[in-house]
Amino acid sequence: MNKIIVLDTHTSNQIAAGEVVERPASVIKELVENAIDAGADSIEVRIKNGGLDFMIVQDNGTGITKEDLPLALMRYATSKLKKASDLSLGLVNSFGFRGEALPSIGSVSNLTIISKTKEDNSAYEIGCQGGEILGSKPAAGAYGTRIEVRDLFFNVPARLKFIKSPKSENMAIDKLMRAFVFLYPQISWQFFSDDKQILVFKSSESDLTKRACSLLGQDVLGYLYPFNSMGNVVNLEGVVAAPMIKSRDSRNIHIFINNRLIYDKKLVGAIKVAFRTLLEVGQNPIMALKINVDPSMLDVNVHPRKTEVKFADEHRIISEIIKNLSDFLSKTPWLRPSEEVCLPKASFINQPKLEYKFLATKEPVLDIPSFSLEQKPLMPQDLYADLEILGQMHNLYILLQSSKGLILLDQHAAHERVMFEKIIKQKKNFKKIDLLLPIHIDLSYQELQLFQQHKEQLISLGFDCEFFGEQTIILTSVPDFINKQNSKELVIDLLHEIDEWGQSRAHSDIFDHVCASLACHSSIRAGQKLHRDEINKLLIELDKIDFNAHCPHGRPIVKWFNTSEIKRWFHRP
Ligand code: ADP
Ligand code: MG
Repeated sequence: MNKIIVLDTHTSNQIAAGEVVERPASVIKELVENAIDAGADSIEVRIKNGGLDFMIVQDNGTGITKEDLPLALMRYATSKLKKASDLSLGLVNSFGFRGEALPSIGSVSNLTIISKTKEDNSAYEIGCQGGEILGSKPAAGAYGTRIEVRDLFFNVPARLKFIKSPKSENMAIDKLMRAFVFLYPQISWQFFSDDKQILVFKSSESDLTKRACSLLGQDVLGYLYPFNSMGNVVNLEGVVAAPMIKSRDSRNIHIFINNRLIYDKKLVGAIKVAFRTLLEVGQNPIMALKINVDPSMLDVNVHPRKTEVKFADEHRIISEIIKNLSDFLSKTPWLRPSEEVCLPKASFINQPKLEYKFLATKEPVLDIPSFSLEQKPLMPQDLYADLEILGQMHNLYILLQSSKGLILLDQHAAHERVMFEKIIKQKKNFKKIDLLLPIHIDLSYQELQLFQQHKEQLISLGFDCEFFGEQTIILTSVPDFINKQNSKELVIDLLHEIDEWGQSRAHSDIFDHVCASLACHSSIRAGQKLHRDEINKLLIELDKIDFNAHCPHGRPIVKWFNTSEIKRWFHRP
């Protein structure tokens, strides 16, 4: 065994750098968080070649005094923590407090700090070249701090090898900057990459919806609705895109917990549960959400770079998120006329590439076929019952008109939505009806297994049933709101639904799916001829329910063509 030696400061700083400074984006994160901790309300970030040539972060925060400058570069030197008990007392509400970032960055780059405080009458500068601290000297500089990091990893070629391309480093920094813009609306931001201005936001422009577009893309602006709720354990704030625009994957669900970007399957799942009746299976909502919880509810042992979280009372937190978001969604803000949407001026020089599709081409919803930014998003009429009935097409669609345009309504999808809402309302106090003639249902071997497993759930939904011979069950009662003629198919469908959904979902989610299935079985069929009175009744019913733009499976109910668009089809002025 070799002799034990104590590592010199330089070596220990480099080892720490291995943890703190993974890539250029982690340097930017540390420097920007320091600027925020210093109370800056204006932060400018400049990078070159994905940050590998240089990264400069300039702020107008409190600055570092001449005496403190050398200390800022010393390991475990921090102005944010006085004693260990501050930590356990929760007195630390800054990002940093370990005093590791600057010495770590300085050990693997050429670093310069120029800072001016209110106390000092000049700015001072200090340098650090690959860990070697150079003396401080007066310099020219504005009030605040400017930190320049050049030639990152120049002295650790092994780390440089792990860096992907400058392009992907640039993208990582870009993503981080957009998150900062959203998280700190009270701060003015500027971000330049290779001398190009990428983002510019004034602190006066603190509207969260506009800020969120830095993450979600400017094209969604007219479709975003601000959302906030104060819960018992969590506060939520963010923006939600109307469900007519959606994403194939969950990349456009941005979640921040206490201002840290995280990607956590549980939370993405919770958000999707809240959207469950608005989106079809496989579709994802578009939103940016800040979740604020008491830090004591978060597991502090989770590594700061880890993107998953551990909550102390997970069940409570998750169900509160689902409930508050669902309550907001059930108010369908996108169905009410929105205030005039104005676009931010020149806030986006470079747009993020849109990762989602506008409106599935298969079944468009309330959409604007030729999407253009100047156009205000189209909102459906205030009341369905006020529309004039023109007729029925192919026994599938109801044709309606108003002064604003032409409306096509999917009769099955619409009625399904109505039935779904009814069933959901009745589910707590529905009545069971005993069947005069019990129904025998033959099951396959697999279905028999399912029946054995899920019999109790079927009974709790109002379907009393029992084994009757080897392959047969007997149904003796059904809930009062279903169409008895379909009960055979329905029971079998329900068994499959409960099985499929019961694996990983919350009970309320299974129940909604089962209700959706019940609704489907008891709705007006596609292909059914409808009388004017029946159509009228359907329109009145639609006005009574929430969520009236989508069927319970998330398929759209209506398609709207506005008059000016129809005019355009025919080249009418
Ligand atoms: P930590 O943030 O954990 O304290 P750092 O190494 O990131 O450790 O910074 C060390 C110290 O340098 C901070 O505690 C702070 O006093 C000072 N400092 C760093 N950046 C800035 C800044 N932009 N403005 C003012 N002070 C700063
Ligand atoms: Mg720090």
